[in-house]
Amino acid sequence: MNPSEWFTEQVPGAESAFSLKIKKKLHEEQSPFQFLEIYETETFGNLMVIDGCTMVSTRDNFFYHEMMSHPALFSHPDPKRVWIIGGGDCGTLKEVLKHATVEQAVQIDIDERVTRLAEIYFPELCESNNDPRAELKFIDGIKWVKDAAPNSVDIIIVDSTDPVGPAEGLFGEAFYRDCFNCLSENGILVQQSESALFHLKLIGDMRAAMGNSGLSHLQTLFFPQCLYPSGWWSATLAAKNPLPAFREQDCLDKPFDTVYYNADIHKAAMAQPEFFKKAFSL
Ligand code: SAM
Repeated sequence: MNPSEWFTEQVPGAESAFSLKIKKKLHEEQSPFQFLEIYETETFGNLMVIDGCTMVSTRDNFFYHEMMSHPALFSHPDPKRVWIIGGGDCGTLKEVLKHATVEQAVQIDIDERVTRLAEIYFPELCESNNDPRAELKFIDGIKWVKDAAPNSVDIIIVDSTDPVGPAEGLFGEAFYRDCFNCLSENGILVQQSESALFHLKLIGDMRAAMGNSGLSHLQTLFFPQCLYPSGWWSATLAAKNPLPAFREQDCLDKPFDTVYYNADIHKAAMAQPEFFKKAFSL
């Protein structure tokens, strides 16, 4: 394997790696917050890498963007106001705006350069950026939520990088308390919660911090994501009150296309693996 022909992300602690054969490097830059790279790959289309970690590829981003948005929105009775913390590639925003109930979708990413590069190299993910319901802000999501008024949002989606650097504070109790304060009574926080195979302790720490903040009704869901460490990813939903019933008929009747998500996938993703149930006494 000629290293110059491959992009490889090594996973410290898991002593594993993931590689994609590349045609060429299209761009790199140091933004005020992180080091950004774009590659053209042989079989996955374009690839965005932030601080050496894979973020999004043309070929397989649908798993993540659909599972970070639709399960939460179809678990809420009437999601109108949605915030996406992070999500700078705009793929989650595009999925959120497929829901006709949504009246306001604010994407708060600390690094404007991520979005500007997505507009060039992932234009298909940015198709909804000019939707009149969409608003793009380039500030720290931690501050945005801290400063938010009570009952100002129905769904908060934390589509951030791993819990290091600018994203570290998005995985702690203080942030979850601020989310509690601004979520509506039946509001839902959904956060990308890494890999249950590689990061089970982290998920435990997140669930404990969410519970301590008052967002004590938790549901971790699971889905494949080739690009990310272990290839098996998760998102954790957290709410003040028991999660409302899945709007299955609305999901079955959905007037928009998805590639992966549907009512069966929704229900399957909510099933808890045996080791996970034992780890958290579920
Ligand atoms: N799907 C990716 C994953 O699971 O790793 C995340 C995609 S998105 C590119 C991650 C975004 O989180 C980046 O654009 C980064 O700028 C943003 N981010 C990190 N920390 C942040 C913070 N404190 N506030 C807002 N955005 C943040």
